[in-house]
Order: sequence, then structure tokens, then C-alpha cells
Amino acid sequence: MHESNVTDCTIIGGGPAGLYASFYAGMRDMSVRLIEIKKTLGGKLHFYPEKKIWDIGGMPPTHGLDVMGQLIDQSSTFEPEIILNKKIVTIDKNGEQLFEVISADGDRYLSRSVIIATGGGIVYPRRLDTKRARDFEKTNLHYTIYRLNDFKDKKVVIVGGGNSAIDWANELKELVSELHLIHRNDTFRAHESQLRQLKESNVHIHSYTSIEKLIPGESPESIRAIEVKNSQSQTAYQLTLDDLIVNIGFDSEPNFHQTKGLKLSLKDNYYIEGDTMTHTSQDGIYAIGDIVNYKGKVRLIAGAFHDAVNAVNEIKESLVPSETPKVVMSSFHEGLQNK
Ligand SMILES: Cc1cc2nc3c(=O)[nH]c(=O)nc-3n(C[C@H](O)[C@H](O)[C@H](O)COP(=O)(O)OP(=O)(O)OC[C@H]3O[C@@H](n4cnc5c(N)ncnc54)[C@H](O)[C@@H]3O)c2cc1C
Repeated sequence: MHESNVTDCTIIGGGPAGLYASFYAGMRDMSVRLIEIKKTLGGKLHFYPEKKIWDIGGMPPTHGLDVMGQLIDQSSTFEPEIILNKKIVTIDKNGEQLFEVISADGDRYLSRSVIIATGGGIVYPRRLDTKRARDFEKTNLHYTIYRLNDFKDKKVVIVGGGNSAIDWANELKELVSELHLIHRNDTFRAHESQLRQLKESNVHIHSYTSIEKLIPGESPESIRAIEVKNSQSQTAYQLTLDDLIVNIGFDSEPNFHQTKGLKLSLKDNYYIEGDTMTHTSQDGIYAIGDIVNYKGKVRLIAGAFHDAVNAVNEIKESLVPSETPKVVMSSFHEGLQNK
């Protein structure tokens, strides 16, 4: 068990909200520790790295992957302590009125305030339930697409029938040498225009079809072919491939803020009830980004930034009441002049 030094704030969650809060807390001269359960920062941006984001003010349309990189760079401006691969399971208060943010492996992180920025929660792409699937995750079995160009001139099979699977099929169809879409029934959940585009293309659609077996190639670490079966005709056949892309939904775990012991008011058993200034029902604990709920809440990256500024300013004012300014302008910030 490790017990930390005391910081002004612990931020739980390293998505857009937590990353921007850690930058802004630095602007307000606060010491910060940011804790993220995954091995990498970025939150939900990992779900759409190859998509362009158009609606962040002043930024040209930019791929999710690049927005993620820029947010991570910006978050490190004031050198916050960043802890990855650490699942937070509860928050306690000790005798000195400090918060103890506690991880699943028993580490305790002490701070004067806490910002919960856990967004969509602990979410993982649903894995393929086929023997040996995990063995191929480092090579040619993919659960997300980081760069479309990685699949140029390849023979690709996509599994799934939802919005993202069909979107990927449409994005890849001109780029790859051959594209197959496998879906366990014939109900595709996508916009009509996306579906029309798909059906009018040269993508081979295999409805009522599931993967039975992954067949390794000469190198046993990668898949050479898959054996599939049509559930209506009961016919089994093989498809050779260079890459297999799986998009069959997401799995999520319950998160710490939902436990009764924390006494946070929740909406719909998930969102943390807050106000526009990001206060929660517990003094000293703030909620920002997609996890917080209040009238007018915008669940977009721009909304996450707005919450982050409010939370940090509220914390600053509560820790150092003499620090009255509500707004700090980066253009005049002394600490940024030499960066
Ligand atoms: C497909 C898709 C497309 C989108 N497109 C756009 C768009 O074009 N424009 C736009 O503005 N927004 C878009 N959004 C929404 C945007 O991604 C979210 O509003 C934003 O990611 C919210 O950021 P967040 O930090 O609040 O939450 P998240 O991004 O969900 O990040 C939360 C982080 O907290 C971590 N975490 C959770 N629980 C714990 C725990 N117990 N311990 C430690 N860490 C934990 C998670 O691992 C995650 O990294 C899109 C979302 C999706 C799904």
C-alpha cells in the first residue's frame, strides 16, 4: 500500500474533461494528481480516433487521435502527476478533512479536493468470443481503427451491424482491396443513407453469419483466415484475410461513484447530480464532463472544458478564499510566457 503526498486536487479520469481540468488547475497554480484506469489517456476519444471532430471552437476539423494528442500535451503544461493503470474504487475522508482517493490495489491518494471526470465509465470494446482471439490482438485483430491508411490495399473483414461497423465499412471500401462485412442477423442499426451507401457498394455482406474459428497463418501470431457459418443455411466456409476488425458493442463495469457509501446524488442511477458550477451533493467533490448532470449540460468536448474551468475556479476559491478572480486569461498568464 502506498500513501501519497497531499495535493490540492485529485482528478479521477483522463478523458477530455480530466485532461483539460489538469491543465487549468495548473493555470490556477494548484497541485494536481490525475488518475486513469487505462494504460493510456484520452477517454472516449479512443472510440473514434479516425473520425474528424468539427465542433471544437476555433479548431479546424481534426481527427480524434490528434485532438487526443493535443489535449494530452496541453494537460502536461504544468507537469501534473499522472498515474495510469489505476482503478479508483472509493473516496474517503480522513480526520484532517483531507480526501483519500483509494485504488483497487489499496493505494491512497490524499488531496484537499476531488474532481470526478469518469465520463462514460469503465468501458471496453466487447471482445470476440472465439477461441484464441486474444492471441491475435497484437497483430491483425483490431477493435478500433486508428488510421484508415493502415488498411490500404488489404483484404479486410469487419464484424458487426451497428453504426460504427457500417461507418468503417463505408470509409474503407475504396481504400482496401476487398471488404467483407459479417453480421449475425440482417438488421443493421445505421442511418438510412449509410446503409444505402453500403448496399450500393462492392462490399460483400454476409448476413446471419458468425465466426466459428480463427485460423492462424504461417506466423502463429496472426490470423490468415476465418471459418464462418450461416445460421440459416447452416453452411460453413472460409474467408482469407489480412485484417479482422471487430465492432460488436461495448462492455462496461459499475463504477465507484454508484456505491451507496459515497452518498452522491445520482440521476438515472448513473449520472452525478450537480449544478452548473459542478458541485455535487458532497462538499469538496466536484463532477465534470459527461458524468455530471445539470439543466443545460452539454455532453460534448466543449461542455467538458466549460465544466473543468468552473470546477477548478470553485476549488481555488474554496482553498484560497483571498484568490478572488473567477477568470484567468492565458494570454496574460505569467507562468505561460516562457513556455
Ligand atoms: C463515437 C463518439 C463520437 C463523438 N463525437 C464527438 C464530437 O464530434 N464532438 C464532441 O465534442 N464530442 C464528441 N463525442 C463526445 C465526447 O467524446 C465526450 O463528450 C467526451 O469524451 C467526454 O469526456 P469525459 O472526460 O467527460 O469522459 P470520457 O471521455 O468518457 O473519459 C473518462 C475517463 O475516465 C476513466 N475512468 C472511468 N472510471 C474510472 C475509475 N474508476 N478510475 C480511473 N479512471 C476511470 C475512463 O477510463 C476514461 O478515460 C463523441 C463520443 C462518441 C462515443
